[in-house]
Amino acid sequence: MKNNLFLITQLLICHLISAQDTYQRNSSADVQSYIFDLKLNDKNNHIEGKAKVTINFQNEVNEFALDLIAKSENYGMQVVSVFEDSIKVNYTYENNKIKIIPTPEEEKNRTYTIQYKGIPERGLVIDTTKFGERSFFGDNWPNLARHWLPSVDHPSDKASIEFRITAPEHYDVVATGEKIEESNLDNGTKLTIYREPAPVAMKVVTIGVTKFASRLLGDVEGIPVSAWVYPENRLDGFSDYGVATKVLQFFIDNIGPYSYTKLANMQAKTQWGGLENAGNIAYFENSVTGKNEVEGLIAHEIAHQWFGNSATENDWNHVWLSEGFATYFAILYQEGVYGDKKRKEELGLDRKQIIEYYQKNPSPIVDASITDPMKVLSTNTYQKGGWVLNMLRHKLGDEAFWKGIKTYYNTYQNGNVMTIDFQKIMEEVSGKDLNLFFQQWIFTKGYPELKWDWSYKKGKITLNIIQTQKQYLFDFPLEIGLQKEGTSIIKTVQISNRKSSFKFALDSPPDSVVLDPNLWLLLQEK
Ligand SMILES: [Zn+2]
Repeated sequence: MKNNLFLITQLLICHLISAQDTYQRNSSADVQSYIFDLKLNDKNNHIEGKAKVTINFQNEVNEFALDLIAKSENYGMQVVSVFEDSIKVNYTYENNKIKIIPTPEEEKNRTYTIQYKGIPERGLVIDTTKFGERSFFGDNWPNLARHWLPSVDHPSDKASIEFRITAPEHYDVVATGEKIEESNLDNGTKLTIYREPAPVAMKVVTIGVTKFASRLLGDVEGIPVSAWVYPENRLDGFSDYGVATKVLQFFIDNIGPYSYTKLANMQAKTQWGGLENAGNIAYFENSVTGKNEVEGLIAHEIAHQWFGNSATENDWNHVWLSEGFATYFAILYQEGVYGDKKRKEELGLDRKQIIEYYQKNPSPIVDASITDPMKVLSTNTYQKGGWVLNMLRHKLGDEAFWKGIKTYYNTYQNGNVMTIDFQKIMEEVSGKDLNLFFQQWIFTKGYPELKWDWSYKKGKITLNIIQTQKQYLFDFPLEIGLQKEGTSIIKTVQISNRKSSFKFALDSPPDSVVLDPNLWLLLQEK
């Protein structure tokens, strides 16, 4: 009965949430592939584009829309023409949507070619590097692809992608996918083509066009791993990004096969610290120091290749499936390399941030009230999401946790997911009912705020623990460390009421008593 009630609540919440992600999805059109043919120049920031978009109509063949920010004053795009194969088709271009009316045929697989031009205000950042070199960097997350690429600019519709970049020949070009052509053309320009056959979301496709020094760092299970850095940072950059091979191997070993044709690590102009572009990660310009200071960041962005890029949230409100996972898997990588001490250190810092954030923003990880994708990134979706995975791991045990993670990835590789999909897999693998766990940690705000004391009398230690938070009573196992002369005994108690009391037999009084000594519970001591 309790479980059913939770299930119903969750279904209602899920329904509500899908109403919150306000992106207007196409009813039948599903993009299979994009080919973006782009001409860049040095005279101005104008781009000329030709997008070939192959659509599969899943049900009836009807009107569909692509996102493209239209020209207004200095910035934005103008559409020159829209063709279905070689036939000009009717379309409208209003409110930054190209609405295309297919020809009246039965055929369900069709290719549309959109010719367009303009100056992108965002998404494709045309600027200079910190060394004063002209540069073009794709920086799409979350929904800025529409400033330069006509596309279904939402993570729910993923497609294979090809970039055909024509630029002055002095540039080096890197992009999502495998390089399949580099040709100098007659007029001082160079054509570079990259193709990624795996389906990717527009939030994580990119190009980098500037003067680069690039180097193959290694080959990991057939995946070429490279560094693309500014020539001035050549040796420091190759050294700092060198750890990417080790990180890639760790995640392949522990999660499953990598989804993309390569892994380039690119120094870039990005508004983020790092942007996890599929197979072509962008790291902020000053990430290169030569002192190997960004291993955690590199691990985070590489973890995204599995979570966020390959198993992709179907809805912006479930972005913790991307950010919470990347946060925790970066910790798991570091735990693997530096030991459990590192896990505890990272989670201790994250817990502080979560508590601080919650004082100002009391909201759950999946927050139905957020409608702007830019606002889904928060301490909740990163650090708290990571903490939830840490607690899930402890609840299930390492073996079931890792088996569940592998099964989840294997099931949703190159697909789309919602929180309930992850929950179901973890339930199947562990044989445990996790409704309450997901309900309280993902869909409910806050965490246990505990007031407690202990006393010792006649060979017994007594603990009194009170949940003081107002809104919700949590149900959780709590580890208690009884410390005596440098050694520690751990006792686990289950707490579900507001007030709990526990007694343990103990020969002599402990030196100290600590709640959650090994950092397995997100709690605040009051
Ligand atoms: Zn991230």
